[in-house]
Amino acid sequence: MKKDKRDMVMFHKYPHLLYYGMMNKTNSQEPLSWYGIECGFGWYDILNRTFLKIHKLCRQENIHGRVRVVQIKEKFGGLVIYYEFNGVVNHICKEMIAKYIRDAEVEAYITCETCGKPGKLIKKGWWKTICWKCRLKKFIKSINIFK
Ligand SMILES: [Zn+2]
Repeated sequence: MKKDKRDMVMFHKYPHLLYYGMMNKTNSQEPLSWYGIECGFGWYDILNRTFLKIHKLCRQENIHGRVRVVQIKEKFGGLVIYYEFNGVVNHICKEMIAKYIRDAEVEAYITCETCGKPGKLIKKGWWKTICWKCRLKKFIKSINIFK
């Protein structure tokens, strides 16, 4: 899987949230360390806004470093963000973070994973949330293979 400089930009913006995933590579077993962000760039804006909300909450509640994202991936055409708590986090914060993550996953189902424009979940052999333009491009590419 790709590990892109856009992943690094995200890490530099949210070091506390993605620290263990992106930097602690030598002693980390976490997928984020090895594979980076495992979804299309069309969802990076959703991720950015979600991490910003979590970052602000953590700063406000003084719980930096106690929430860490361990994997970000596409699964069955949807966005999945796995995270864990590392230390004491109160119940209300946990609920809020769960809601931010849920909102991101819901938004991804109506956002093209490739380009970030409005899209929908297509289930045709492959499952992918995609817009009609990217779908057309994908289709044309698939035809070209047989020429
Ligand atoms: Zn698209």
